Amino acid sequence: MNQVLKNCIVRLGENEEPSIKDVLDLLSGDRLFILVKLRQVSLGDEVELELVCPNTACRAANVVTVNMEDLEITPYGEDREFSFVLPGSKRKVRFGYLDGHKEKRLAALKEPSISSAMLIRLIDIDGSTPSKKLMNEMSLRDRSALRQEMLRVDGGVDTTVETECEVCGTRIRTRLEAEPGFCSPEFACKGRLLPGLRRTPLGIRRDESAAAPGPPRVRGGPGAAACI
Ligand SMILES: [Zn+2]
Repeated sequence: MNQVLKNCIVRLGENEEPSIKDVLDLLSGDRLFILVKLRQVSLGDEVELELVCPNTACRAANVVTVNMEDLEITPYGEDREFSFVLPGSKRKVRFGYLDGHKEKRLAALKEPSISSAMLIRLIDIDGSTPSKKLMNEMSLRDRSALRQEMLRVDGGVDTTVETECEVCGTRIRTRLEAEPGFCSPEFACKGRLLPGLRRTPLGIRRDESAAAPGPPRVRGGPGAAACI
């Protein structure tokens, strides 16, 4: 993902030569927003996903079309640090946003979890450095309240995809960027290989051929992981 972003972004504000560090410095919501926009200018607004039913007795493939213009976008506010008093223990927690550096550290974890994703956003608890132990000792009530607060102040683009299996009715819930149909090899390659790129007002390189009518049907493949 970082390489795709670095290859495709030609300007970040006044910065004409964004480096990998600049890309990692971006907040996660901005990073995902850019990725969605890149997917749109490369292959069109619509993405067709093939969602396999999680019910092991069913496993039916459900085809779902998502229009990326319809995704809900929440701008970040001015603040970069937040204070929150846990409702149970009354301890005071300070936390920030997820950015590319933190995403990278999370991706390197053997067993990433919601807890580790929360822990990485913590600045301190009652003034002390947060630890895995502190997180594990937190009551379910406090943890749940903190998670809600982190979600409440977060910005970005909501890429949740939800549907019900056409065959058995089981609820299927996933994220757009986690699906092979979104991160197709064609998409991952567009930004760095195709000639004839031009600037758009967004500062993103745009492939002229993307104006062709109708989005191509894309399939995930071995290269699919390239953009995450
Ligand atoms: Zn099913």
